[in-house]
Amino acid sequence: MECDTFCPHRVFERREGDLKLVVANPANCVAFCRACSKTCGPDAISFPSKPETIALIKQIRERENVK
Ligand code: SF4
Repeated sequence: MECDTFCPHRVFERREGDLKLVVANPANCVAFCRACSKTCGPDAISFPSKPETIALIKQIRERENVK
């Protein structure tokens, strides 16, 4: 399991006694990056769907009046 050390954004954290990594800092994750998925087993990490993420980004841009 290399995903905790692979990501430079400190999204994952390994806590003593836990068998699984903890998503400690989800807001640090880069939109549309999925690089860490290649370091763990197949389907070990799930990501939000691309259309949902795009819709959310549009919503935030409209709310913040960003073009
Ligand atoms: S998707 Fe990218 S930014 Fe997010 S945790 Fe994985 S490597 Fe880090």
